[in-house]
Amino acid sequence: MRKLLAILFVIILFSCQENKEQLNLTEGVYISNVTIISTEDGTYSPYIGHLVVEKDKIVYVGKDEPSISGTFEQIDGTGKFIIPGLIDSHVHLPGVQGMLPNHIEKYPELATKFKSQMPRSYLYYGFTTLIDLGGIYEEDITSFNMEKAKPDLYHIGYSGAAVANGYPMNNIPIEYRFEALPNFIYMESQAENIPDKYDPTNHTPKAVVKRIKNSGAIAVKAYYESGFGHMKGLPLPTKDIMEELLTEAHSNGLVLTVHANSFEGHSFLTDIGVDIISHGLWNWEEYKDVPSDSLPIEIKNMLDLQIKKQIGYTPTLTVIEGEKALVDTEFLNQPGLKKVVPKNLLEWYKTEEAQWFGKKIFSELTVEEIHTMYDNVQGHAMLALKYLSDNNGLILFGSDTPSGPIYSNQPGHNGNWELKLMKEAGVSLNKILASATFNNAKAFHLDSSLGSLAIGKKANIIMMAKNPLTDIEAYDAIEKVVIGGKVIKREDLEVKE
Ligand SMILES: [Zn+2]
Repeated sequence: MRKLLAILFVIILFSCQENKEQLNLTEGVYISNVTIISTEDGTYSPYIGHLVVEKDKIVYVGKDEPSISGTFEQIDGTGKFIIPGLIDSHVHLPGVQGMLPNHIEKYPELATKFKSQMPRSYLYYGFTTLIDLGGIYEEDITSFNMEKAKPDLYHIGYSGAAVANGYPMNNIPIEYRFEALPNFIYMESQAENIPDKYDPTNHTPKAVVKRIKNSGAIAVKAYYESGFGHMKGLPLPTKDIMEELLTEAHSNGLVLTVHANSFEGHSFLTDIGVDIISHGLWNWEEYKDVPSDSLPIEIKNMLDLQIKKQIGYTPTLTVIEGEKALVDTEFLNQPGLKKVVPKNLLEWYKTEEAQWFGKKIFSELTVEEIHTMYDNVQGHAMLALKYLSDNNGLILFGSDTPSGPIYSNQPGHNGNWELKLMKEAGVSLNKILASATFNNAKAFHLDSSLGSLAIGKKANIIMMAKNPLTDIEAYDAIEKVVIGGKVIKREDLEVKE
């Protein structure tokens, strides 16, 4: 009997030890006793637990204290919160905020400082993954990746699949635009305005998507934009073109994300069933004068269809707010900007020379007129977003940084502003966090490695002093950023001069 008990005891002991995680680390990070906030389905059940990283991967996450040996850094997470690194699914990295090529030529040192700080600025505000939706060349990717601390970068290839002479090609002088957007779509109706050297067979949706795929892209970007401001009546993709882009994107394992912010554009894309619309719905066209607290039935019906089809909706509220900020004399004095914009560049933004874009788009308007105009548009954008949020629409976080040549959409800072505007629109904090982590990862097929705190996923983790499910200020209370297993203190990401 005694012998039997002894054996039983050994078995129990053995099985206990087996349950306890045995982790032998070589380059580990152990975050202990921390509130873990992550989701695999959009619902949150935070708990106090432990997370272990080995090299660039999460190897343990759970309530039980793991048993660890080897080489690791321990971080006491008592009273702190961790979330997966934030994903901004709509940014533009090339260029310098607010500067034209001639400004960059005139002030090369401002541009150089901006470029080298930019990756850290995104990390400073918790953005560990960026998806460039504007087209990016190898040299920009290389120079971004040369910085020691930088977010993970994904892109849509050298250019979006714009229709010939349509948006955004129309912004570029005709002699450069075809070279600038090598993935343009040939349309017979534009044949006379396309140089002869371009072979139509290289510019079908099929050929274009193949090229985009081969350039290492994760998504195809297309556009449905008839014009805004002074531009009107731009060529638009036909239904056949958009459907073919969708089919080709899917057969190449890519996601189709399409620029549109008008009722017509959202309706067109919703009927087709594209994967993602890369802007919110703020241009209500014939409904533009309805009060911004009432949703016309036609718009509601269209949003219902978006919800039913679970089309990704990217609010990009800072597009409107950023333009409006060009007439806000206090904007550039925000303490949060000093952390991420090099000092001399911030000073330049305050000069007369840097006001060129505001002058161009606002010309004779008074500040009051500008506020009325933008507040009306933003009111509509927020109402559409709130409706989607209340009715289980698929919201994807994207800031469109920068949405134009404006200094008011700064790296990281703008995404942080976007999070706050979503809150202002009435989106719950749970949904805001999901939109910037789990939803984005899933929608862009990055969820095998990103978007949640789970074993096997990449160790992109944000540690905060406040709870992001109860306090939007948590995004301003980031203390540490872990990127690919490397722990960085937030203050080390700030502008140094
Ligand atoms: Zn954009």
